[in-house]
Amino acid sequence: MLKRAADLLRITVQTLFLDDGDLITACPQCKTQLTLANASTAEERGVTVYRCRRDQEIVALITPPGTVPVESSGYRLGDFVLRNRSDLILPLVSGNTVLLPASTNALHDWESLGT
Ligand SMILES: [Zn+2]
Repeated sequence: MLKRAADLLRITVQTLFLDDGDLITACPQCKTQLTLANASTAEERGVTVYRCRRDQEIVALITPPGTVPVESSGYRLGDFVLRNRSDLILPLVSGNTVLLPASTNALHDWESLGT
């Protein structure tokens, strides 16, 4: 089932009004700023994949947690891991923002996921 980053974050930070359109990041390849709602989404091998619409580069993944935690591979949110390849900005109702720094190892096991 396709999981959306906003659904996981809404539960974790208890922000009721949050949509993928509120989550701002950038494509790691073409550097275009985009919201996750602007990215294409698909489920590939049990993983939700957000891709840049310009160049199809992977922007973020939502995966099950790995059996072995890997440094900088993503953020554990409930039963899933959000792996954003560029910094991701989450606005709060208070007007503050939360920055989730890029997961530099976001794709570390991408080739073997779900196989
Ligand atoms: Zn791009």
